[in-house]
Amino acid sequence: MTTFKAPVRDIDFVLNEVLDYQAHYKTIAAGAEATPDMVEAITAEAAKFAEEVLSPLNKVGDEEGCTWNDGDVSTPTGFKEAYQMWIDGGWQGLSHPTEYGGQGLPMSLGLIKSELIGTANWSWGMYPGLSLGAMNTVYVHGTEEQKNQYMPKLCDGTWTGTMCLTEAHCGSDLGQMKSKADPQPDGSYKLTGSKIFISAGEHDLTENIIHIVLARTPGAPEGTKGISLFIVPKFHVNADGSLGERNNVKCGSIEHKMGIHGNATCVINFDDATGYMLGTENAGLNAMFTFMNTARIGTAIQGLAASELAYQNALPYAMDRYSMRSLSGTKNPDKPGDAIIHHPDVRRMLLTAKAFAEGGRAMIYDAAKYSDHMVQADTQEERDAAENELGFLTPILKAFLTETGLESASNAMQVFGGHGYIKEHGMEQIYRDARIATLYEGTTGIQAMDLIGRKVVLDGFKLYGGFCKKLYKFGFKNLLGGKRRGYSAKLIGYTVAWNWHTVKMVARASKNRDAVGAASYDFLMYSGYLSMAYYWAMMAEVAATKLASGEGDAAFYQAKLETAEFYFSRLLPRAKAHGGSMGSSTDSVMGMDLERFTVR
Ligand SMILES: Cc1cc2nc3c(=O)[nH]c(=O)nc-3n(C[C@H](O)[C@H](O)[C@H](O)COP(=O)(O)OP(=O)(O)OC[C@H]3O[C@@H](n4cnc5c(N)ncnc54)[C@H](O)[C@@H]3O)c2cc1C
Repeated sequence: MTTFKAPVRDIDFVLNEVLDYQAHYKTIAAGAEATPDMVEAITAEAAKFAEEVLSPLNKVGDEEGCTWNDGDVSTPTGFKEAYQMWIDGGWQGLSHPTEYGGQGLPMSLGLIKSELIGTANWSWGMYPGLSLGAMNTVYVHGTEEQKNQYMPKLCDGTWTGTMCLTEAHCGSDLGQMKSKADPQPDGSYKLTGSKIFISAGEHDLTENIIHIVLARTPGAPEGTKGISLFIVPKFHVNADGSLGERNNVKCGSIEHKMGIHGNATCVINFDDATGYMLGTENAGLNAMFTFMNTARIGTAIQGLAASELAYQNALPYAMDRYSMRSLSGTKNPDKPGDAIIHHPDVRRMLLTAKAFAEGGRAMIYDAAKYSDHMVQADTQEERDAAENELGFLTPILKAFLTETGLESASNAMQVFGGHGYIKEHGMEQIYRDARIATLYEGTTGIQAMDLIGRKVVLDGFKLYGGFCKKLYKFGFKNLLGGKRRGYSAKLIGYTVAWNWHTVKMVARASKNRDAVGAASYDFLMYSGYLSMAYYWAMMAEVAATKLASGEGDAAFYQAKLETAEFYFSRLLPRAKAHGGSMGSSTDSVMGMDLERFTVR
């Protein structure tokens, strides 16, 4: 069974020493409440809940899974009690407006909570996690009446929310969606259709579930331009907020799947179910993007969580498993062999997971500042600017951190040798649970196309240019006056190479549009390695400065510097290979005729 210790010192380092969150909180209204004491108290309480309540349920959830009985779904033993503690603690509305019963704290504080909960028990965390997306969507796109009707109970956690997009024939290409919404004389709609793979779509944790559903109104244009968004409650809600009759929404079945067994993945059937339009007709997909971006950052956290949990659990094993003698001389003479942590290859695997976890944390928490600005902006212009910046980073965070999370989980399993493949230690569960993260909320391939297509080329390189400028600015500043000038030089060099590969790829795309798709995955991975290098360079500067001043915990800062060195020496060079692939001919991917794919 895995164990979890909340990495509170590292979170504190990232928030306060690297990203200066207290300065950031002075720039947003909700930040006034987020004093250092408040942030520390919330982190400590979330850590306690994650370590003591959720972590022990991680294995229970995996082994028991959810059960379906004629439309009702039971969650694993202990999930319901843990959820009640979540409600009692007032956690769900932490970052939501006080007018709806939330605590009005910044969105970024909610991410700390999500990281700790998700690392301890991802399956459990998905129930309140999906609900956060529903809350954001209703809050941003709902009418005053809808907000008053749904937000209070979503905020206090009495109800949860879902996101119903996928249908059997389409997940990535939602333009093919078929669910129908027929307008009724009273202004409501009757929804008919079947959604599949709906996370937390049915469960026994709450009295009501608010489904956020994509469907088409009669005569709507084909494709993505004809999709609208609806609120469809499991139980009708009376004007006074009390529960009414059961709506015609039913869970047809739950999936039997590779991992995240504790979270119900449901077929949800809408059979003339009453729904209410959210936002404007035919603009549903855009409105849903509020939801998707929140969920995608949430899924990026799943990648970070996998790296963290994998590292934490592989480390003690590597210290306490003895095999052969170290190449550089005996280290444990009283044992029949040396602890495997003395073998370079085992260290490579551990350091890879450590570097991805700590680098990923800095990437996510820095991006979270944009989500604070999005919610707290005074003007639409400021809101749009923050949303665009976050939108550019989202595919990198989501795809790169989930791919690297999966690699960490695989490496950590490998540290255990054959024992990693056996259920007892829980390492294979980390891998199985993490595997979904590169698939849902837009596969890595879809994120890569979104990044290079919408966020770079169609944006006219504006956000891309701004991002590069940030890297150059940091690089040149520290090349002259920093403590780790070598890292700044590398950062500049890799950014120049990235620009060059991008220009070449765009030039090829002007002759052959497939050039973009053929390069997209490598472009995304290059972006990921480069962004993470930026944060490792930043963390190394802080750690080197602190060490030089003799302030604080020297072992902590020394470990940061050594992990940064590993990142720059051993992981960042992978970007060169991605650059090389990006620069290769499109024909090497698209040249083979379909007939020649045939197995002979
Ligand atoms: C456990 C689980 C939980 C889920 N939870 C939810 C949920 O809560 N709500 C919800 O609505 N959905 C949910 N999903 C659905 C999930 O988001 C989709 O499965 C996912 O988006 C992929 O869609 P698809 O399965 O239809 O694959 P497809 O869209 O058929 O894709 C198949 C492959 O083709 C690739 N591909 C497709 N189009 C392109 C393109 N243009 N360029 C490059 N590559 C392309 C994809 O990357 C993928 O590799 C969940 C799925 C699972 C398994």
